[in-house]
Amino acid sequence: MRGVQKWYGEFQVLRDIDLEVAKGERIVICGPSGSGKSTLIRCLNSLEQYQQGSIMVDGIDLGGHAGNIQAVRAEVGMVFQQFNLFPHMTVLENCMLAPMKVRKVTRDRARELALKYLERVRIPDQADKYPAQLSGGQQQRVAIARALCMTPRIMLFDEPTSALDPEMVKEVLDTMIGLAQDGMTMLCVTHEMGFARSVADRVIFMDGGRIVEQAPPDTFFSNPRHERLREFLGQIL
Ligand code: ATP
Ligand code: MG
Repeated sequence: MRGVQKWYGEFQVLRDIDLEVAKGERIVICGPSGSGKSTLIRCLNSLEQYQQGSIMVDGIDLGGHAGNIQAVRAEVGMVFQQFNLFPHMTVLENCMLAPMKVRKVTRDRARELALKYLERVRIPDQADKYPAQLSGGQQQRVAIARALCMTPRIMLFDEPTSALDPEMVKEVLDTMIGLAQDGMTMLCVTHEMGFARSVADRVIFMDGGRIVEQAPPDTFFSNPRHERLREFLGQIL
């Protein structure tokens, strides 16, 4: 992202965003409510438009023609706070849909992929259930498996554990840690600072639409430079 600016009407939600993420890098983004964290990551797969600056994802320019947006979306998996599973489809069907529609893989291949990634998130036995029959933690793991079925090169997470009961947070974080260990490029909006400490290569603090501070977790937590970050850490740690 280079010099990205975004407004909602009169309100500027992203200001001068410069962000470069290397392949395999794990980024955690934190910051107060309304600071623009969701907006920033939603810009990365064109769920939001921006007005100035440029965004390139894996060499594809998001400012280019509409075909580029489709190409980027196929490479970028996204997991939301509210799991956003299709309620009228089984777990297996949820996972099979996008690979068949977007990647044009056969039904057999889609099923194979779905079972592989459901295995990976450790719920292959739930394949024939409907989302409403699963716990929140299980639904979120399905959402992660569903994203992985597209074999994305980048995974975006927007507060994936904040709608979960405390006892289910760990199973989702463990799944994310597994992904990180496998070398997935990840940008995670989260306030799970234990996760940030153990997994992130870099932690980013946003405030008022800006990236105010970024550093490896050691430095970020032990030696925050900006007063605003010190305050924020004081509230959440
Ligand atoms: P939270 O921690 O609460 O999820 P956030 O850092 O993810 O916050 P964003 O959702 O990116 O924040 O929103 C940033 C700002 O933009 C907020 O002030 C929000 O009210 C505003 N905003 C978000 N979406 C819209 C929209 N569609 N129209 C107008 N304003 C919006
Ligand atoms: Mg948000």
